[in-house]
Amino acid sequence: MQIGVHGLVFTGEFDEQGLRTACSGAHEAGFDLLELPLMDPYAFDGAVVKRIAADHDLAVSASLGLDAEHDLTSDDAVVARRGEDLLTRAIDVVAEAGGSALCGVLYSAMQKYQQPATERGRAQSAQALGRLGAYGRDAGVELSLEVVNRYETNLLNTARAALAFLGDVPSDNVHVHLDTYHMNIEESSMFDPVLDAADRLRYVHIGESHRGYLGTGSVDFEPFFRALARIGYDGPVVFESFSSAVVSASLSNTLGVWRNLWQDSADLAAHANRFMRDRIHAVDTIRMH
Ligand code: MN
Repeated sequence: MQIGVHGLVFTGEFDEQGLRTACSGAHEAGFDLLELPLMDPYAFDGAVVKRIAADHDLAVSASLGLDAEHDLTSDDAVVARRGEDLLTRAIDVVAEAGGSALCGVLYSAMQKYQQPATERGRAQSAQALGRLGAYGRDAGVELSLEVVNRYETNLLNTARAALAFLGDVPSDNVHVHLDTYHMNIEESSMFDPVLDAADRLRYVHIGESHRGYLGTGSVDFEPFFRALARIGYDGPVVFESFSSAVVSASLSNTLGVWRNLWQDSADLAAHANRFMRDRIHAVDTIRMH
């Protein structure tokens, strides 16, 4: 299991200086992995990421949410094609950076839709992800689709919806990504969806209900970590937190990061690292009961 942290805990800029800040912060806090926000994968040089991450003894993964100009479900074929091209580039960057996981809202735009997803848009996205899954397999990069709340997509709001969708994706290199922040809004519990997803669950985000310090909101983390142990989950577990203290122009507005929930990235990150490792360690002993 790799315990990781999202880059936006440390910086909103991912040029070489920003990458050093993020990698240094992640390493100092005790993490194994840094997740890069690849909202604009054309702005990243995978080789530079690989070198800086290696300098800090960190593994790398990446996430992104498509915008309306790159929406795989769009009625506009040009927009959908642009989205597929962007995801192809994102896979290349992850591979060049030495990573093996690309996750997030890869299947639609990450935005509040004003209408339900259409059958046509859904099928179009599934076909594109089939091609991208095959491309990713050749590059050594696994794709995981993040299940998010209704205000951020109209397609995959629950683990079950994601599993049904994967049934229409013609690639076995595309999987499920669950996030406790979104589960807390949409799922029936924090336990059952993990068991439902089981071996299709390949990526996990740990976020509080307000996306601040873990343990200070309403997310019931205990059953979630028990469920991970129950299915023998061995993939990345990545802390995600956003505050107006660290701002990314492309992501903060989309996610509605209006409030300052923390100031000290180092303290937040070290706390999250301890919080997650303590729970993973404790639930691991349940198998001896
Ligand atoms: Mn997330």
